Amino acid sequence: MVYNFGAGPSVLPQEVLKKAQKDLLDFENTGMSVLEISHRSQNFQKVIDEAEKDLRELMGIPGNYKVLFLQGGASTQFSMVPLNLAVGKKAYYAISGAFGKKAYDEAVKLSEFLNLEAISLGSTEAEAYKRLVNIDECQIDKKNAAYLHLTTNNTIEGTTVYPEALPEGADVPLVADMSSNILAVDYEVEKFGLIYAGAQKNLGAAGLTLVIVREDLLNAHSTLSSMMDYQILSKNGSMYNTPPTFAIYLAGLVFKWAKKQGGVKALEANNRKKAQLLYDYIDQSGFYQNPVVNRAQRSICNVVFTSPSQELDALFAKEAANAGFNYIKGHRSVGGMRASIYNAFPLEGVIELIKFMKEFEEKYR
Ligand code: PMP
Repeated sequence: MVYNFGAGPSVLPQEVLKKAQKDLLDFENTGMSVLEISHRSQNFQKVIDEAEKDLRELMGIPGNYKVLFLQGGASTQFSMVPLNLAVGKKAYYAISGAFGKKAYDEAVKLSEFLNLEAISLGSTEAEAYKRLVNIDECQIDKKNAAYLHLTTNNTIEGTTVYPEALPEGADVPLVADMSSNILAVDYEVEKFGLIYAGAQKNLGAAGLTLVIVREDLLNAHSTLSSMMDYQILSKNGSMYNTPPTFAIYLAGLVFKWAKKQGGVKALEANNRKKAQLLYDYIDQSGFYQNPVVNRAQRSICNVVFTSPSQELDALFAKEAANAGFNYIKGHRSVGGMRASIYNAFPLEGVIELIKFMKEFEEKYR
């Protein structure tokens, strides 16, 4: 038995993979593979329409928000967000992780070109991002602010801004990089102006980037490259060019699976249960440690932990991989271990991991 603890691409539901396997050879009796059908065909239109409908249902996306199925990864959104939203304005960033820093750096890069000011509301980089930035909303110049950007789940560092901790009074659109906990934690879409996420964690396969954006933020920019322009992409139903058809199809299957599991609330409850087991074991062990300063900020999607030494961390990752616990080595920038236990990761995988951790502890304590 192999358990995939990868941070993305990551584990997918078996039933989704089995359906995809079947459709890979013959998609709904068309005699063609799902990879071969035209994006302009009725068959594909049905796929993308259903995917959008199911996602809207899962997340409770109101009618005044557009759903875009794009490419380029979440990293492309680091530039597309300021390009579309922040020309001539102030763009605020709370930097609580390596990806939040990347998003901020891209806005800084564009600042002269777009006549925008990228402003950091604080960074916890000096503390190795072991806690989230305390956002002081008073620092925001509301009149000139385009948005406040945050990362809801810091994939590398294992921290989360849970719904109750979202800034409330800023009165500026919140822009969220939700790449690693979309559909895993139940957020209210109305709280955000724009949400984006790479698909390769909770939504399916790499190659698709989801953007959910409030209509009033879609400004026409005649000078913007068409492929960068939310307005144009939206008007063309995410098909200004050839979209990532297979990744959209796969996300559609994941949405149907998520609905069958009882929706986002049920998925979150299951994720909490898995994470709690692991954190409880880590906390009582005295051998392993989770570095996150504030327990209320611990991620239920990415559980990071260390053993007493870097040598033992390396040994752990090696022995774990040999025992079928794949990709549990922490991100290269922080070391240690990271168990990514997204929606499709099974509870029994966590139980088995804890057993393995106990054995490892007994051997090397
Ligand atoms: N933001 C977050 C929170 C991520 O976890 C990642 C990828 N691990 C990215 C952005 C970058 O995403 P992509 O590789 O899709 O560009």
